[in-house]
Amino acid sequence: MAERITVATDGTLQVPDEPILPYIEGDGTGVDIWPASQTVFDAAVAKHGRRIVWKEVLAGEKAFNETGDWLPEETVEAFREHIIGIKGPLTTPVGGGIRSLNVALRQILDLYVCLRPVRWFTGVPSPVRHPEKVDMVIFRENTEDVYAGLEVQAGTEEASRLAAFLRDDLGWTIKPNSGIGIKPVSESGSKRLIRAALEYALRHGRRSVTLVHKGNIQKFTEGAFRAWGYELVRDEFSDVAVGWDDCGGNPGDKLLVKDAIADITLQQVLTRPEDFDVIATTNLNGDYLSDALAAQVGGIGIAPGGNINYVTGHGVFEATHGTAPKYAGQDKVNPGSVILSGVLMFEHLGWTDVAADIVKALEATIAEHIVTYDFARLTEGATEVKTSEFAAAIVERL
Ligand code: NAP
Repeated sequence: MAERITVATDGTLQVPDEPILPYIEGDGTGVDIWPASQTVFDAAVAKHGRRIVWKEVLAGEKAFNETGDWLPEETVEAFREHIIGIKGPLTTPVGGGIRSLNVALRQILDLYVCLRPVRWFTGVPSPVRHPEKVDMVIFRENTEDVYAGLEVQAGTEEASRLAAFLRDDLGWTIKPNSGIGIKPVSESGSKRLIRAALEYALRHGRRSVTLVHKGNIQKFTEGAFRAWGYELVRDEFSDVAVGWDDCGGNPGDKLLVKDAIADITLQQVLTRPEDFDVIATTNLNGDYLSDALAAQVGGIGIAPGGNINYVTGHGVFEATHGTAPKYAGQDKVNPGSVILSGVLMFEHLGWTDVAADIVKALEATIAEHIVTYDFARLTEGATEVKTSEFAAAIVERL
């Protein structure tokens, strides 16, 4: 019987065998990658005697064309009520009232973690020599930092009033032709993100959590993020985790928590990826780092993401690439990002058997060099297949 997922008082998800899951097909290539992904999900779930009752909700162009609204309230309500959902890519309306539909959904549902696991699958073309050494999970803060949208345009009345306040009250001199942005990073926001990363690392038997920050320059935002992280380890996790300075880099059997400055991190994830495991970082650093890392293991066609609030249980899993409009409707692009976002979703639901099966079948397909155009152009002797054929090949190997 179709039922809703609920959340118990202790915050754990109660997942029925036939949950109702809302989904957004997505704009552009969403019409290709969503149906392909859905066939993989349905086949994998059926194998374990379960069923998903899909509930389509609208957002983006499809919503705008049908309702005049880019993000109808009904859609937000569906994600709120059903706790967990999944989406394809959405067009960001240019010059519209909403800066980004993705950012709007994250902020409305307070999905404070952007979860981006980055690992390599055998056979995936990569620009680095040892992509198999990349196995990291990024926890990117999703609600604060420069993404809070607090900025004023150069030359406006607001900008000159803000500049006057900063000059008169704080003695800061700002050039008159400047746009000004505000970067809020809170103790509670930082700690809940880092707490989620630590709990994930402990749950999954990971070796370390690295706090990535730019605290050498931005002391009271990025530097504070680092300090609050170590404080959290001492206050709440001292029996199971230890900060680098408190153990001289020798954590014994505890989880090691260390930190690294963002710029050197971007270099070291390339030169010694094996030193990084779980990463907890502020919003903008996380944005750069996620895409840079995705490039090492095959690019955005195959990089999954999840936006999660571990307290309320809400989660929206999503393709990390955009709508790639030039390929829309051609049954051409790689559905890997949505498929692996589904894997993340199933892991989050506790359906680890389903998740593992999909990963195995996807790996087997790619290992046989049956791939979409993006991998085919980088792989000698590959068999290039359409989006739907790639999904069918995965289903065959389930
Ligand atoms: P994009 O849609 O991500 O496409 C950029 C390039 O990435 C494509 O030209 C293609 O590369 C490659 N690519 C994208 N999806 C792929 C897939 N499934 N398989 C294989 N390769 C794929 O970025 P964009 O053109 O900058 O943005 C287009 C629209 O998407 C904009 O409206 C933007 O706001 C929106 N967007 C949405 C999201 C989201 O919903 N999460 C994220 C980012 C952007 P090649 O040209 O090399 O083949």
